[in-house]
Amino acid sequence: MAAITAKETRRSERRGHGINHKSESCKYTSIEQALGDALAAYSVTWLTIHADGAVHRFDTADKAKGNRNGWYVCPSLEIAVYGFWHTGEQHTITTGGKADPAAAAEARLAAQRAREQRETERRAQQAKTAEQARHWWATAGAADPTHPYLAKKRLASHGLRQREAMLLVPLFYEGELVNIERIYPDGAKKALFGGRAKGVAGLVGKLAGAERVLIAEGWATAAALFEAMGLPVVVARNADNLEAVARRLRQRLPDDVTITIAADDDRFTKGNPGATKARLAALAIGAKVLMPTFCAGCQRCTDFADVALCRQERGL
Ligand SMILES: [Zn+2]
Repeated sequence: MAAITAKETRRSERRGHGINHKSESCKYTSIEQALGDALAAYSVTWLTIHADGAVHRFDTADKAKGNRNGWYVCPSLEIAVYGFWHTGEQHTITTGGKADPAAAAEARLAAQRAREQRETERRAQQAKTAEQARHWWATAGAADPTHPYLAKKRLASHGLRQREAMLLVPLFYEGELVNIERIYPDGAKKALFGGRAKGVAGLVGKLAGAERVLIAEGWATAAALFEAMGLPVVVARNADNLEAVARRLRQRLPDDVTITIAADDDRFTKGNPGATKARLAALAIGAKVLMPTFCAGCQRCTDFADVALCRQERGL
């Protein structure tokens, strides 16, 4: 009687707080039931579990519909492995309570299979997106120099193309066009869905023959720096991608070419991600960091493009 009470307590605790399933010791009559219960703790309650040994994907409750961030596989009728790609979480549950080395080995293999399948899907999607990017690029015309975004930033188009109202920034990986960043008239920026992101970059100017190369976050910042300094500027797109881009570029360029990270100064954002990530990227490749210098009293500008524009508007 005491044992049953303890078991019931554990069940209600787990339901209530979604605590670690590795310590799960309840006995279930089927793996479907065990997995269904485990996923319910993550608010995933609509699945029909297939314990068929195949990897299954499902939408998680914390992201948009169609996210397919969840996965599970039941390598046998006693074990289920499940996890979430966006958090890296992975759990194993069994119908019995005891640790079983054979079951653990099966679970590891199943998880490995899930990862490989996911990687295959991801590469297939990246290839598809690269194909779309090449098609868009090939069929787009030169950017209209009066495009609202260019006009607002007072920048030339520097070889960008345009499709309908979108400016197209070509993004490269290992010299190949793999994606396109679309810049909308209101300044919103979005790459094509499913393309490779890490280490992928755009470019303003030409790398060939350059003695010094800059790396910046956004295209407009890169264009403003190019116009001001006449140096080629690589576009990493965001602070989180600076280091990957810096490492690839350092590998690719001859040793005597100097690389400088031109940081955004996110001085109004907690932790200043622009400056912080720029320093990390610089450390990774032994480069220097260039920070924008703001006009006295300016409480608005955060990057080189802002400063260039601000100075023009103040007639400096
Ligand atoms: Zn300013």
